[in-house]
Amino acid sequence: NTFAEIDLGHALNLNIQRCKYVRPTPVQRYTIPISLAGRDLMACAQTGSGKTAAFCFPIISGILRGNIAQRPRGTRTVFPLALILSPTRELAIQINEEAKKFSYQTGVRVVVVYGGAPINQQLRELERGVDILVATPGRLVDLLERAKVSLQMIRYLALDEADRMLDMGFEPQIRKIVEQMGMPPPGERQTMLFSATFPREIQRLASDFLLNYIFLTV
Ligand code: AMP
Repeated sequence: NTFAEIDLGHALNLNIQRCKYVRPTPVQRYTIPISLAGRDLMACAQTGSGKTAAFCFPIISGILRGNIAQRPRGTRTVFPLALILSPTRELAIQINEEAKKFSYQTGVRVVVVYGGAPINQQLRELERGVDILVATPGRLVDLLERAKVSLQMIRYLALDEADRMLDMGFEPQIRKIVEQMGMPPPGERQTMLFSATFPREIQRLASDFLLNYIFLTV
């Protein structure tokens, strides 16, 4: 019942200790083992329930376990291994800050991109390399159209506050983003869908994006 008992790897466990997290919250307790086992997941969880760590820990642990994959170099296109989509810039910034703490001194690089801010600084950050990309849908579509980012190597996809993203009208962008990843063979990509509510539109996203998924309400 403590993080030390979950096999997340030494480096991540150290960072969890540094953050003074001792016990998983309910959403973490139920989702982390499922994600570590490689299963797709749809979780109904509210803000403040600890969902950021719930999707960040399996991503960071998985990237470290798999060693950081070799990706094409010497191009101006970057190839992240994980993508976290967020409805708003504020939430994206918050996720980025937490993900950076969790991946401190692990070699895993986290970059955030969002709209409503100049793109040039974000491009410079991307060009330094990225393992985990935190993004709002509109800005990511822009970067994909400019061929600055490729989603070909994505192994982990997390959609945070999916219901809010749909309420904000991001469904076309989200579908475009997921289409760019193509349909991987089972086990090649893991998807985690988090939403506070579970209306029909979210059920449809889940059945379109998730494979053999586990459904959890916390
Ligand atoms: P979230 O729902 O991810 O925005 O997290 C809500 C707040 O709870 C954030 O301030 C987190 O840093 C904190 N938090 C998340 N998980 C834990 C945990 N297991 N132990 C202590 N604090 C946590």
